[in-house]
Amino acid sequence: MSKPEKFFDDKGLRLDGRRIDEIRPMKIEVGVLSRADGSCYLEWGNNKVLAGVFGPRELHPRRMQRPDTAIVRYRYNMAAFSVEDRIRPGPNRRSTEISKVSREAFEPVVLTHLYPSAVIDVFTEVLQADAGTRTAAINAATIALADAGIPMKGLVSACAVGKVDGKLVLDLGKDEDNYGDADLPVAMTQDGDVTLIQMDGNLTQDEFKEAMELVKVGCKQILEIQREALKGKFDQFDTEEIEEETVAEAPKSEVEIDETVEVETEVVETEEEEVVETEEKVEEEVVADDENDEEPDENTDDEDVEEGETNE
Ligand code: ADP
Repeated sequence: MSKPEKFFDDKGLRLDGRRIDEIRPMKIEVGVLSRADGSCYLEWGNNKVLAGVFGPRELHPRRMQRPDTAIVRYRYNMAAFSVEDRIRPGPNRRSTEISKVSREAFEPVVLTHLYPSAVIDVFTEVLQADAGTRTAAINAATIALADAGIPMKGLVSACAVGKVDGKLVLDLGKDEDNYGDADLPVAMTQDGDVTLIQMDGNLTQDEFKEAMELVKVGCKQILEIQREALKGKFDQFDTEEIEEETVAEAPKSEVEIDETVEVETEVVETEEEEVVETEEKVEEEVVADDENDEEPDENTDDEDVEEGETNE
């Protein structure tokens, strides 16, 4: 795509109709991978990113373990089909650098000392790229870490700010990124501490200060979206739990009813059996008495024995 003639319309709106301090629409789904301990699918404008967290788990080979802490490994990868031209699969200079700085963006927040000798693996896969993929991946990774239940001091939110046609703009789109004058990706904790900052291009000191204020606004907006996504997940979890409990209780009472019926049936059966047995005994005794009334027979004892055996 060639450079657009102008980046702002008469109303000061950007190419995609956004204000200068407006981020692209973001959609977050939590817990999308069943084999991961935590996961997230994130769409941000035309960016589509998947993050999976595995661990904490024992680190192998053991010589890599640190007895006082867990280590965090972070992989940023762009799928071969994520951009117009096919990307050669496998790590390259850019992805290795982004993986390193992104891992460092989580270092101040993840409570690694709770898991000595362990490893926490964070995988981020860019399925569709449209500028701002490293920040999109960090936003997804934070959610995946939270979904995995990894203790953190807080969430990390990331956003880029840049300069286009001499104006500072939040969350650069593809053309703004390609043809702009500066690109400044930033990640920060929910307390506003910066954990990642990189810069392409040039900004004056005043512009830099202003850019940092602007990016704070963006990260706050993203933090809210992240919180809502996690709240949605755990609210749903609570409801599911309540539903499960209710469902679990229902059959229990049915079972109790069934058992009562069965017990009663058994009692009735037992009573019937007892009655029948008692009647048979009475009849036998009557028969025996009748036989005793007759003249004693030599074989009587044997017959009694045979009868007894039959009854048994
Ligand atoms: P970020 O995606 O974090 O903004 P860059 O500024 O390096 O990182 O890249 C900007 C955009 O350029 C990416 O989002 C992607 O759309 C595109 N891009 C990056 N690397 C490549 C590549 N190897 N081939 C084609 N497009 C690329």
